[in-house]
Amino acid sequence: MKFAVIGNPISHSLSPLMHHENFKALKLNAQYEALNIPPEHFHHIRDIIQAHALDGFNVTIPHKERIIPYLDALSPEAEAIGAVNTVVVSDNQWVGHNTDGIGFVKGLEQRYGNLDNARILIIGAGGASKGIAYTLTQKARYPIAVVNRTMSRFDDWQFDIEKHHLSELEQIAGQFDIIINTTPVGMNNVEESVGVLNALKEDVWVCDIIYIPAQTAFLKQAADQGYQTYNGLDMFVYQGAESFRIWTGQEANIEAMRQIVEHRLYQ
Ligand code: NAP
Repeated sequence: MKFAVIGNPISHSLSPLMHHENFKALKLNAQYEALNIPPEHFHHIRDIIQAHALDGFNVTIPHKERIIPYLDALSPEAEAIGAVNTVVVSDNQWVGHNTDGIGFVKGLEQRYGNLDNARILIIGAGGASKGIAYTLTQKARYPIAVVNRTMSRFDDWQFDIEKHHLSELEQIAGQFDIIINTTPVGMNNVEESVGVLNALKEDVWVCDIIYIPAQTAFLKQAADQGYQTYNGLDMFVYQGAESFRIWTGQEANIEAMRQIVEHRLYQ
């Protein structure tokens, strides 16, 4: 079996390392490569994938929306989210899926437990937020609240959420059991936080989907106040595991995948 991730740039991607470790753990004879595809070459995508004889591929920045017109079908999640990170290739038929949201939610459930009764607030309304929010709306009993800087970002959201402006964050944050930063604020060791969180519920979980650095300024501020924190590494691992399951029908070795990525990033 042959798989790949397409993106631009792509040389930094940890997906090949993570998937190879899974193949090794499962004793599978499979390959996974990183293909750099600049936007100006994207119209050749079907020929490129065919030339590499892939059985499936992941799609990352900046192609998650651009891929859609080239697909033969979309899963209901990918349709609702309007972005694709996983494509299954079978008999030259391409079906697009989105595993980012389920990746975050599965990872969180493993640590937090059942999310049915949790009140959840998401900060940011970009592609990752939309996937997570959509997945959570299928699970949680309470409406999912989302705050964003630009309210027009919600215009094409076709599922029900509670929308707020980012300026309301401090005022409403104390109502939630789980708060998730999905903005890129704090990536690459920037000492900047998307907001200040005070007077939260005592047992709140403060999450960030960033995993480089392992602890963003947003998470550090929460940890310093004694709150439980959770970063984006599991999301990366579980989105990959879900892609693998969609391609092969097999469960991935999550621990093997997590360990190799943790080792590369944090040791
Ligand atoms: P995106 O589509 O560009 O969305 C970015 C969101 O962040 C928008 O809502 C934007 O608000 C908001 N934002 C950006 N800068 C901000 C600022 N200075 N203050 C307040 N809000 C700001 O990005 P994405 O694809 O969703 O990715 C978001 C982050 O998630 C990135 O850091 C990415 O690396 C990470 N990610 C992690 C995983 C994982 O596996 N762990 C997977 C996917 C993405 P406006 O609408 O107002 O512009």
